[in-house]
Amino acid sequence: MQDTDKTNADSSNESTTETQAANDIIHRFIFDKTDIRGEIVTLQNSFSQAYEHQSFHKSLRPVFGEFLAGAALLSEVLKFEGTLTLQAKGEGPVNFIMAEATDKGDVRGIIRILDAHDRVRDFHNTDLQELLGNGIITITIDPVKGQRYQGIVPIDAPNLAQCLEHYFAQSEQLPTDISLFANEEYCGGLFLQCLPAQEITSAEERAEKWETAQHLAATVSADELFGLNNTDLLYRLFHEMECRVFEPKHISFNCSCTRERSKNAIQSIGKAEAQSLLQERNVIQIDCQFCGQQYSFGESDLADIFPDESETLH
Ligand SMILES: [Zn+2]
Repeated sequence: MQDTDKTNADSSNESTTETQAANDIIHRFIFDKTDIRGEIVTLQNSFSQAYEHQSFHKSLRPVFGEFLAGAALLSEVLKFEGTLTLQAKGEGPVNFIMAEATDKGDVRGIIRILDAHDRVRDFHNTDLQELLGNGIITITIDPVKGQRYQGIVPIDAPNLAQCLEHYFAQSEQLPTDISLFANEEYCGGLFLQCLPAQEITSAEERAEKWETAQHLAATVSADELFGLNNTDLLYRLFHEMECRVFEPKHISFNCSCTRERSKNAIQSIGKAEAQSLLQERNVIQIDCQFCGQQYSFGESDLADIFPDESETLH
């Protein structure tokens, strides 16, 4: 990770960036001589590609967007090789929302709605507690190397940002400020965190810097986040705090589904169940819920999936 000169943010040309903001990008930043770090992300193409394959009314896009942006921010905070998943489960009309982000900048997500009528209706109230009811949010970290980690936080606030702030307050005990914004076209967010004392040891001075950073972050609007380049917005918000911005990372919609994984899914339901499915429809079709890719398996595939018992398939 390379440092970019902080003059990078100063040299913005607002007349062009106002109309042509670059999206699908995440930036990490720090405030010099403080222990505060941050991140900023805006998604547009990756967001639309992610919801394209989901069947829900466009009134739910902002909620879905908040999960995507939240996953992208958290995967970057944790700086590990692997996948971070945010998963909300409840018993409301929307019973499942999931968003994943990898260290490579790939994002994808799912919303599951049980009642067909609810899939096409306009949700005027997109309060998370209304949509999901009494539910929980699980944060899962699946590193390529090492142990899987899971943290759980109740859905005890009307939006994802507040639930995640509660999570950080309880589990990490690091002051954390998360703002998530989304509409039908864009989603994004701003993340600030105060790390354990290194640069500043005076508790009073730490609190003062944190308060200033939080106060400045609170002035951000959705229009600014979606209309300005990240670096321009960071300069506009934090120019009084010596904000050092790191090299950006591109975010794109990418699905990790494969034919091989679908085979594993068939294997997990067992031979008898797979056989009866095959008899019903002559083919077993598995549709990826993230990207809509269809994988079809016939009799010879089943013989391949259950090799030991292949002779009984005929
Ligand atoms: Zn897929």
